[in-house]
Amino acid sequence: MYPVDVSRIYEGERISKEDAYASFGSPKTGILLLRVFDEEEVEDYRVTVDREPEEGKEHSIAVLIKIYGKRLESDVEGFFERKIHELANYIQGFMLEGSRDNLQIRISKESYKKGLDLKTAGKIIIDLFKKQYRAIEKMEINFFIDENNVRDIATIAKKIFEEREDRLKSLSDESVDVFYICTLCQSHAPTHACVIAPSRPSNCGSISWLEGKAAVAMDPDGGIFEAKKGDTLNEVKGEFKGVNKVYSEKTDKKRVYLHSIFEFPHTSCSCSEAIAFYIPEVDGIGVVDKDFKGSTPLGLDFKSMLYQVSTGAQLEGFVGIGYGYLKSPKFLQGDGGWQRVVWLPKALKEKIYSYIPSDMRDKIATEGEATDVESLKKFLIEKNHPIVKRWKEGREVERKEKKEGREQKAKVLASAGFKVVFEDVDIYIGKIIFKE
Ligand code: SF4
Repeated sequence: MYPVDVSRIYEGERISKEDAYASFGSPKTGILLLRVFDEEEVEDYRVTVDREPEEGKEHSIAVLIKIYGKRLESDVEGFFERKIHELANYIQGFMLEGSRDNLQIRISKESYKKGLDLKTAGKIIIDLFKKQYRAIEKMEINFFIDENNVRDIATIAKKIFEEREDRLKSLSDESVDVFYICTLCQSHAPTHACVIAPSRPSNCGSISWLEGKAAVAMDPDGGIFEAKKGDTLNEVKGEFKGVNKVYSEKTDKKRVYLHSIFEFPHTSCSCSEAIAFYIPEVDGIGVVDKDFKGSTPLGLDFKSMLYQVSTGAQLEGFVGIGYGYLKSPKFLQGDGGWQRVVWLPKALKEKIYSYIPSDMRDKIATEGEATDVESLKKFLIEKNHPIVKRWKEGREVERKEKKEGREQKAKVLASAGFKVVFEDVDIYIGKIIFKE
């Protein structure tokens, strides 16, 4: 018997900081790592907590989950890691958000009084997993709160997350016939789904194309679905007939572009690691990630942007992305790719520096050079960013349209028998009166 209720109805339950007995992870360090181990390395139903949390305090946390099963291979790690997000939230008074290095956990005061602590929550989570997935023969959960232990696990986790991303390098969208569509976040973003392609890892970064494939093979009804690509409708923007079909079955959208933030952008949820956003004043794209706490040139910080986009709506000009997508050769290629990017937080720029084309590296501003639209414009002009040429071309088009308009007026007058000659002059005609 559990000390609190356990049911799907608690999945969307929010616990405020004030109502929490204790909070763990974000904004402090929060790591969630699940790995497949050999049989002898996993002690079934073992749950450990390295020290007792203090009431009312915020703690860093690292959660290391070990699973074993004869049929389990490392490809399923990302899938089960995300499943924690769903199943742990069935526990009344237990809130688990985020993933990987962005984890947040809160236990409500009320449930704590009834006997729910990390250890008990761990046992319930193991129960839920083993009931749902027979392939998991053994499962163990270790909670670390001590800062030194958290740091150690964070170092190991970082390496493993990078290795998972590297596994994808030999794949491309062209070399596969199917993509995967993940609906695991529909508990909090009911109309959102991630399309997972080799060139577009998930918004949360937990599920790559390979992990999607492993998840579907193991559990075809588990919230991740196969989508045959079908006919290519727009190669540059990344639109496929078969993907649209499954996407429209799983969400309320009819079309989705994988590589553009305009018209039919991919949807977003609160697990997005970063957000790409359009800055109309410079006709460029900025990217802000969860680790940047300041304001972007748009005047919004990551949190307020995430609040706007995380409903699952298709919001033109904004798109949630994972860090992995910034490393993709198809990154926003429908909008001009890196040639269109004008702003990034400094720390993020350093993190993905080698993936930014070398001719663009010093042309993209950070918070050090641009904090608002005016300073951004100045920087882009100074650095001769390709977007500046785009502004000039835009003005040329505008001028050409005006000129064509004037020629049209002249043609109308000429057809009435009057000779009117305009030669390369800029004249605005408000009113013309012709007298005999
Ligand atoms: S962010 Fe996307 S891929 Fe990750 S769990 Fe949510 S829906 Fe699935």
